[in-house]
Amino acid sequence: MPDKPSKVAIVGAGSVGATIAYACLVRGVAKDIALFDTNAAKVEAEALDLNHGLQFVPMATLEGSPDVEVCRGADVVVITAGAKQKPGQTRMELAGANAAICRDMVPKLLAVAPEAILLLVTNPVDVITYVTLKVSGLPRARVFGSGTVLDSSRFRYLIARRLRVAVQNVHAYIAGEHGDSEIPLWSSATAGNVPLHAWAVQGHGKLTVRDRTEIFQDVKNAAYQIIQGKGATNYAIGLATARILEAILHDENRILPVSSLLDDYHGIGDVCLSVPCIVNRTGVDAALPIPLNEAELAGLRNSAETIRNAIRSLGF
Ligand code: NAD
Repeated sequence: MPDKPSKVAIVGAGSVGATIAYACLVRGVAKDIALFDTNAAKVEAEALDLNHGLQFVPMATLEGSPDVEVCRGADVVVITAGAKQKPGQTRMELAGANAAICRDMVPKLLAVAPEAILLLVTNPVDVITYVTLKVSGLPRARVFGSGTVLDSSRFRYLIARRLRVAVQNVHAYIAGEHGDSEIPLWSSATAGNVPLHAWAVQGHGKLTVRDRTEIFQDVKNAAYQIIQGKGATNYAIGLATARILEAILHDENRILPVSSLLDDYHGIGDVCLSVPCIVNRTGVDAALPIPLNEAELAGLRNSAETIRNAIRSLGF
């Protein structure tokens, strides 16, 4: 059965927002795509450039405007607006400025798209997701962040490369903050059906403790490295966000480590962070009861505390 025509509005037409729009067009994620940015020249130029490629992608329309009206009737609003990390800066350092932008913008967005699911990408994404949830008054299912979907795909790529297997056959998650306190869930990671701690396949190596340390360091430092080199990360977050949007609009019940409000998850609550969750047309559904070893649980609690402290410092 064909999906009903759907509309995605993307707020912020910077490196991330414009690349999400591009990925959505190429993958045919939605029938209508709207780009909204306060910088009129930028959003109009991005829309023009994207529209010039419409001939080569699945049928869609794309509109860009500095007027929030362009977001009217959106099924999902993706928020990427705000400051980005400068070289060496942490995501948490963006909290105050970006929370203020969200506080101002969310009521305006809901006035034109009252039924929308809000998908946060702006950093620090866990903090901004919590702030948006509180400011909007929406149910938890309708407000969530891209979280560690990107970090987990970096993780899977690095594991796959070491083991010389397809990245699609690696199932491994980064959980917690999308940021410095995030944690790798090694104990539940598999390639094919084989737990990674038991992986020993001739010609495809095994992961030593040193390999694991290096892989996780590379995941954690990936954004710093990319920002140092080119000023922003955009392609992988564009594809990751398009994938989350597909899970929503195509009602896929896909398991993704998005950032959502937890309620007594292994004893953690009243904070937004990433654990694998089911994502469908209602938004973010249940968090999976993944098994955690002691170190992972301690890491997740520490990450929750880091995010909670940042939320409290903003007066929430
Ligand atoms: P950018 O500076 O290129 O773009 C930000 C855009 O937001 C600008 O075009 C600006 O005009 C616009 N903007 C600012 N205030 C606005 C408002 N009130 N309404 C509408 N538009 C507004 O930055 P970027 O590289 O696109 O990054 C955007 C955000 O995404 C940053 O916070 C960055 O840290 C974050 N990010 C998150 C992830 C993730 O995995 N969650 C990955 C990469 C980047």
